[in-house]
This record gives sequence, C-alpha cells and structure tokens, in this order.
Amino acid sequence: MRVPGVPFVQGRNAYTDRDGLKYGIAIHATDNNATAAQEADYATRRTDGVSAHFYVDATTIIQSLDTDARAGHAGSGTGNENAIAIEITGTDGSSRQWWLDNVAWDRLAGVAAILCRAYGIAPRRATVAEMRTNPRVRAFYGHNDMRLAWGGTTHTDPGPNFPWDHLLATVSAAIDDSEEDMTPAQFLAILQDPAVARTMRALPWQYVGGGIPANYSTLKVLNDTFVNTQTLIGRNISEEVVRGVLATLTPEAIAAAIPPDLAAKVADELARRLAT
Ligand SMILES: [Zn+2]
Repeated sequence: MRVPGVPFVQGRNAYTDRDGLKYGIAIHATDNNATAAQEADYATRRTDGVSAHFYVDATTIIQSLDTDARAGHAGSGTGNENAIAIEITGTDGSSRQWWLDNVAWDRLAGVAAILCRAYGIAPRRATVAEMRTNPRVRAFYGHNDMRLAWGGTTHTDPGPNFPWDHLLATVSAAIDDSEEDMTPAQFLAILQDPAVARTMRALPWQYVGGGIPANYSTLKVLNDTFVNTQTLIGRNISEEVVRGVLATLTPEAIAAAIPPDLAAKVADELARRLAT
C-alpha cells in the first residue's frame, strides 16, 4: 500500500515479495545525519541493491517503496521478506535525548499506526528469541534484533539508546486516535485495500462467543465489530460510527475480507446487530 497523505518518491531496488504479505516493522538508523529527502533521492539511483519503504528525519516522512514490495534492508532473506523497513536518519551512537529531539515522532507514529492496522501488527517490540521461533511475528524490531535472530549482517542499528518506549507509546496513541476519528468510508477504504484483504485472509480466524469469528489482528474496528459492538463504543468510538460501519459492510466487502466459509455467518450476525 501507499500510505495516504505521505509523499511518495519511487526508489530503486523494489523486489518481489514472495507471499505478498508483511508481518513486522523493522526500524533502522541510516548512520548519518542526512535528511529524509536526501535519503529518498539517493534511493532513486543507488546501485548497491539496498532499499527501504520509508525514510524519516526530524520533520518529515517519505515513502520510497510500496509496502507490497520487498525491500533490501535486513541482510537476511527472512528480514527482507517479512518486514516493512523504516529508516530513521541518525547514528547508532545517538543519545536518547538526541533521538527524542530529532525524529518526526507524530508523522512516524501516524504512518506506523496505519501499517499496524493494515497488517495486523501489534505496537510492541518482539524479542530476539521470539523472532527466531516465529519469523512472522507481528511486531516491531530493530536491525540489530534481525541480525541476532536471522543473521546476514553486521549492522547494529538503531543503537542502544533508541527510545523504543517512546516509539511504541506514540504508535499506540496514534492507533487509538485513528480509531476515534475513523469514518465508515475510511474504514471501508482500509478494508478494501488489497494488502489488507490478503492479510485478513492469512490471519488465523477462530470462533468467539455466539459463533462470531475473530482474530487478533489490529484491524481492531473490524475485529471488535464482529466480537463486541459495545467494546467499540466503550473505546470512545461513537455508536453512530459503529452503526455506520455495520451498515456499509456489504456481503461483498465481508466476503473479500474474511474466509468464504464464514462470510454468510458474519453477514447474518451484522444484520442481527443492525436490527437491534
Ligand atoms: Zn539498518
């Protein structure tokens, strides 16, 4: 997907993703103090096979590759295949305070929140042990974490002082904010994005209460709509929006997003909820 509202400058070294899915968000530091624009420009002509999906500096974020593409960023085939790469300009040796003062956290968090929602990625940092056991863990990790888990590189970015707590807190807040602000039309646009549809189909579905299917995806609006409409209302999403979402979920949209054998069941449940 190309994230709406984010400048896009097509970079080189866009490879074919084998399964068409992404699972994690890989955080890198560029190990320099260039701007995001300079990095994105360099990405249009670099011949070393290296690429990333996004470049971030102190004021802006630029998208360089569609997230459907596989970037060359990890050093390992596992990392390249499974992760969306975000390069932040800065060095491994930067202090915590330098990071706090020199990253466009609001823009980074806004983009990451959209990616979390679209790809079912949780706003938490995976452990290296977890990454070894499950290379498709749906979480955040650094280049150094990928080195330790999957090898193929000597890179240790984003370095020991990178403020993971701040990153994950801002992403979590952005996810909550985007849910409050989401209109039914925006919700449907996300649901109908091809990358989202592929992700939804690939996630494990299970029956929860009353025969209503759910998964752990951070497509929380859809998930919670199926599981418990009241949960959504309780999270400060207005009942009007929830009902608007329910009303605009056509059988076709439902069928596009979830396994076919569950589509009829979900459509029935939504119709029942709309009627009450
Ligand atoms: Zn890196």
